[in-house]
Amino acid sequence: MSYITENYKLAAKTLTKAFAKHGMEVCYCNTANEARDQILSMIPEGSSVTWGGSESMAEAGVFEAVRQGNYEFIDRKSASTPEEARALYGRIVCADYFLTSTNAFTKDGMLVNIDGAANRVACIAHGPAHVIVLVSMDKMCATIEDAVSRIRTLASPPNALRVGAKTPCTKTGVCGDCLSPDCICCQILVTRYSRVPGRIKIVLCGEKLGF
Ligand code: SF4
Repeated sequence: MSYITENYKLAAKTLTKAFAKHGMEVCYCNTANEARDQILSMIPEGSSVTWGGSESMAEAGVFEAVRQGNYEFIDRKSASTPEEARALYGRIVCADYFLTSTNAFTKDGMLVNIDGAANRVACIAHGPAHVIVLVSMDKMCATIEDAVSRIRTLASPPNALRVGAKTPCTKTGVCGDCLSPDCICCQILVTRYSRVPGRIKIVLCGEKLGF
């Protein structure tokens, strides 16, 4: 076992206690495949399942497995008109399970997310009955400020490239602190505490996922 893996396992035990104080549950998986199987075992067949545009979930193969499984999969990308998208969003916020990642988390048990359209942060905060968060251990930060800095430096610029945003970061590779129409850093959500015990379950992964 490498020292990094050993460190992740130790940190996962510490994080489990830290997140429990904040009303959230944690489990740790060494690999993306283990994480995928763990997440599938957490969702009863027949549940309505939706997602928040997570590269980590896609890379781990969770979406494909859910799409092919015995679930009511609500795909936010299936709407072809603004009216359909609005109607679909009504079903998304009432789904049984919302699958997402978190842009970062703090060592004392808080999730930090930055969003553009804000559908993802909205569903983390309220709506779907259960939220399952898949995140690799490299997203751990010391403080909320460190987490925001990490996201704006390492996550938002490639994410802006992914969605084809016309923002300073897609031209220069670094955050220009923009207020442009295509900005993907409109809402900053710190999930400090879940008042619904166990609503948010975090699957930590030792294998790097997403960005
Ligand atoms: S340039 Fe704009 S969209 Fe890009 S990371 Fe900075 S605030 Fe976010």
